[in-house]
Amino acid sequence: MEDWIAWGQPQARPARYDVLFEPVKIGPLTARNRFYQVPHCNGMGYRDPTALAHMRGIKAEGGWAVICTEQVELHHTSEITPFIELRLWDDRDIPALARMADKIHEHGALAGIELAYNGMNGSNLYSREVPMGPGHLPVATFTYDPVQARQMNKQDIRNLRTWHLQAVKRAKTAGFDLIYVYAAHALGFLHHFLSRRYNHRIDEYGGSLENRVRLLREITEETRAAVGDTCAVPIRISVDELLGEGGLYKEEVEDMIGLLGDIPDLWDVTLAGWENDSQTSRFAEEGVQEPFIANIRKLTSKPVVGVGRYTSVDRMVSLVNKGILDMIGAARPSIADPFLPNKIAEGRFDDIRECIGCNICVSGDFTQSPIRCTQNPTMAEEWRKGWHPEKVRRQKTDKPVLIIGGGPAGLEAAQTLGKRGYEVTLAEAGTELGGRVLKEARLPGLSAWVRVADYRKMQLHQLPNVTPYFDSRLSADDVLGFGIPRVVIATGATWRADGVGHFHTLPVPIADGAQVLSPGMVMDGQRPSGRQVVVWDDDHYYMGGIMAELMADKGYQVTYVTPASEASTWTRNTLEQHAIQRRLLEKGITIRTALALSDIAPDSVGMSCVYTGRRHELAADAVVLVTARLPNDALAVELEARQAEWADAGIESVTAIGDALAPATIAHATYAGRRYAEELDETPPAEGELPFKREITGLVPLDAL
Ligand code: ADP
Ligand code: SF4
Repeated sequence: MEDWIAWGQPQARPARYDVLFEPVKIGPLTARNRFYQVPHCNGMGYRDPTALAHMRGIKAEGGWAVICTEQVELHHTSEITPFIELRLWDDRDIPALARMADKIHEHGALAGIELAYNGMNGSNLYSREVPMGPGHLPVATFTYDPVQARQMNKQDIRNLRTWHLQAVKRAKTAGFDLIYVYAAHALGFLHHFLSRRYNHRIDEYGGSLENRVRLLREITEETRAAVGDTCAVPIRISVDELLGEGGLYKEEVEDMIGLLGDIPDLWDVTLAGWENDSQTSRFAEEGVQEPFIANIRKLTSKPVVGVGRYTSVDRMVSLVNKGILDMIGAARPSIADPFLPNKIAEGRFDDIRECIGCNICVSGDFTQSPIRCTQNPTMAEEWRKGWHPEKVRRQKTDKPVLIIGGGPAGLEAAQTLGKRGYEVTLAEAGTELGGRVLKEARLPGLSAWVRVADYRKMQLHQLPNVTPYFDSRLSADDVLGFGIPRVVIATGATWRADGVGHFHTLPVPIADGAQVLSPGMVMDGQRPSGRQVVVWDDDHYYMGGIMAELMADKGYQVTYVTPASEASTWTRNTLEQHAIQRRLLEKGITIRTALALSDIAPDSVGMSCVYTGRRHELAADAVVLVTARLPNDALAVELEARQAEWADAGIESVTAIGDALAPATIAHATYAGRRYAEELDETPPAEGELPFKREITGLVPLDAL
């Protein structure tokens, strides 16, 4: 039997928070409190059903009253390959979903399922069926698939109502308590029917508000009738698409909700599309949706749930007390801290791991990989690796650990090892813990990222067995002198300034006298002389765009140049690309795409078109090269070279983690720190075994072929 240590001591909580722990009636059901995990994608879906079931189960253990699936494809004629969601195409899909419902029920939460028919939002690349929508239109996927949806006729509408009902019955058989009618985010047929943007019909399903709402009403009423008195039926609807009157807008959707009023058992209200619903902290504060959902409660007697990346408990209380929301919806806050409700209930505010609003979690869906989280490295590893966000395995030896570097990797390793019971010495060269996040949180829009350091510092305060030392830049001699048996090198990385990145794998010629800066130099306060600055972005995540913004804010005339075809192209995966490009343009930054770097002179930058090779010259007093980083691995390399001295010094292992091993995202660093701490002294996988569990598709028996 594993010997687990559960972290955290309950404290008294202020009485004003009690309102969050009142039960809420949802149709025939009662939610145990007001914390509601709204549906969210996770990149696991039908490929990793057991890992997914465990992930949802951990949230139930953490106190959420309602836990929902991601979107669940209800029929094979509408699927969204390559995205990996759940499926309920036929009875064979029931067991995977039942496993999740069971895991949620094990810990006393209600299980919700978001049945989805994407319609003209999916190209059906797997099923090869012709997509259907309210009209003849190209599919509304952001990849511009060369596929058109066909207009649904009356028989198609009748069929779809039947399929929805069949899925409702399967969802009930699987054990779900809340069975959604999904009409949000422009991701499904019901949203398309509601919106004049997509619905140009002239029959009873198009035109007037009543007509556009007809299908939603029919499907909700049929679902209500089918579920009987043991399940609740929420409607999820988007209150605004932020497109003015060209899209669904607040007043129009309020009228729609007014028409349907009390037909569903709960209203789950959001912004559309997903990029407006899940805005990052770079572009939106906590509670950005509040003005859009403020009136819904007046239009219905049924409970209302809404989201807004809420982690402030007082804000949650005020939303309930002001009568705006009955239940506090959360996707990201529940990912960053699956135990948020329990921590609030137990008054453990210092233990809350607040979401930083970076949307790395969203990138799992876009890259079809298991969800990851910057703040919560155990996300999606609950079953795969047996990690738990709030419990750790007791130390297996009492050999102490020296961690060098107090960035995200070192901090996560220190707090996890500390909780396991190890004696940890944490040596930091600087005067503060936090590493790169301290610097990056000072960049435009990234202030919330400091929470990565704050949470971990708060945990270290509670761990007398972890001792941080500041102003302690350790050399190899120091490390050998200490003789602490386990050495972890988490010394981070340094931005390079030679142009080497994704596109150029060799340094770019830089003439004498040219001013070249790296993001690291800029973050350390260096500013170029002159007026014209070129920011060359061959990193493609957030840093290039942010350097351009920062330079524009400082009054430079900025040209942002990238070999890609748009600014910060990887941020499509975090739903930010559009907002970034808009912000750069609004700040007067010139954007030049599809250009490679040829050479840098004191007053100009030579560029060449990535397609034709044609030369372009841009006047520039200075260039900021945002390309790649090099690990700060000198210490690791020297210690490796002096391995013969380890035994005498009492050192058993030296392990580089995080950016010091290979520079990557902050999420990679917290994961690396966690992994080191979780695996220390644990039995490694046997030869030939994987370091994680996986499910593989079952083969059809030979005699059934
Ligand atoms: P990561 O993202 O991998 O955690 P960071 O760059 O955020 O990396 O953090 C690295 C930390 O290591 C920084 O706070 C830096 O000051 C510290 N550091 C670097 N070299 C040394 C050293 N030789 N001794 C102690 N601390 C170091
Ligand atoms: Fe929040 Fe970032 Fe974690 Fe997503 S990945 S839950 S946005 S901290």
